Amino acid sequence: MRVSHLLNSIDDSLAAWLSARGQGAYRAKQIRQWLFARRAGDFQEMTDLGQALRSELAAEFALWTMSVVRHTQAEDGTEKLLLGLADGGQIECVLLRDEVRRTICISTQVGCGMGCVFCASGLDGLERNLTRGEILEQILRLQRLLKAEERLSHIVVMGMGEPLANLDNLLPALEEASREDGLGISARRITISTVGLPKPMRRLAEAGARYRLAVSLHAPNEAIRRQIVPVGEKVSLAEILAEADHYFDLSGRQLTFEYVLLAGINDGAEHAHELARLLGRRTALVNVIPFNPVSGLPYRTPSSAAQQTFRHILEDHGLAVRFRHKKGDAIDAACGQLRRRTLQQISPVGT
Ligand code: SAH
Repeated sequence: MRVSHLLNSIDDSLAAWLSARGQGAYRAKQIRQWLFARRAGDFQEMTDLGQALRSELAAEFALWTMSVVRHTQAEDGTEKLLLGLADGGQIECVLLRDEVRRTICISTQVGCGMGCVFCASGLDGLERNLTRGEILEQILRLQRLLKAEERLSHIVVMGMGEPLANLDNLLPALEEASREDGLGISARRITISTVGLPKPMRRLAEAGARYRLAVSLHAPNEAIRRQIVPVGEKVSLAEILAEADHYFDLSGRQLTFEYVLLAGINDGAEHAHELARLLGRRTALVNVIPFNPVSGLPYRTPSSAAQQTFRHILEDHGLAVRFRHKKGDAIDAACGQLRRRTLQQISPVGT
């Protein structure tokens, strides 16, 4: 019999499995505690469960289903895991240390189907969605990299893949992250970043609008957006902004708009003015991300003078602006880059 992933069954089905074996409901609570609070790595560590139960659990469930293909650490405290999935795919996730913050960045898909022209994750298209267990496994594995006195404080869903194309699996995983008897990370410290898919944005709003939403705009007008974000062919900026506004109305949480800065494409003074007009008086943060070079792609990072000009124009229009501060460059911490480099090293040239 194939063992199943415990993290896929951590909610009701684990309780049902335990009760079918005559175990009380408190057993599920103990197991949750071991996983989320005590950071257990193995069923054998769960010493308040009887030996027989520990063995039965180990025979029925796998706690971990991925292998660590590579674990890299940068001087600034950033750590990155390249994880190998049971069916051969690879994904990445990252731990960032910033003063007392411990932020993790997780993936939701193997590859990505959105095709943004500057992004390493989508260069080879979408392989598949991650399961809820695989999403949760990244979170727990990253948590296990922390020292005992460190606490996970924030989650950003900004790794590989389009999170809103896999909401069925993402939402239950984030539920475990935010539950008091899970990781207890408050929903306002969890940010989901989307390329801007109106229907799932609506669904996320209707599911309670609990999380912070970041929308990858990247362009001040339709023409530029269509050029760099292919889904822009099907979805207009107006539709995306309307859904973002609806989300804001329900959640009351400040929206973030992401804007990748590509030299000669969307980084001119006129683009900054146009972006400011597009966003108008919204309560929003503009997160500008100077292009992070991806080998094989023709795009360039704007000069720091061009970046400064862009920033000042937005600020003069009264927008809140943050430039994404680069961390973990030395370890290819940007989306999809480590996986890509490793795949290129593994596959013979020309395949
Ligand atoms: N699919 C989600 C998450 C993507 S990763 C989304 O589209 O929002 C998070 C952010 O990094 C997105 O805004 C994405 O467009 C941006 N990004 C991807 N590749 C980049 C690169 N090479 N340089 C700078 N930003 C990049």
